Amino acid sequence: MGLKDRLAEIQTTTSRVYNEYCAFQNMLLALNPEDKKAVDDAFARNIPTSLIIAALRKEGIKTSSDSMRLHRAGRCKCPKK
Ligand SMILES: [Zn+2]
Repeated sequence: MGLKDRLAEIQTTTSRVYNEYCAFQNMLLALNPEDKKAVDDAFARNIPTSLIIAALRKEGIKTSSDSMRLHRAGRCKCPKK
């Protein structure tokens, strides 16, 4: 394997971890559009973070309440519009 291939591989396998978004946003980006919309709707309906986390965990989706709270409050590292 040449250097070019090795570097290409690193980029594809770690792009999710080393991009500009926080852990929570990366989890959202990994969801299918329907699930992502459900989380967005839950935020819009002011459902408490702990309940959203519990629902995600039941679906086998791991995320931390800290990263969700920071993201929700706009205090994460995601680019702000
Ligand atoms: Zn974020």
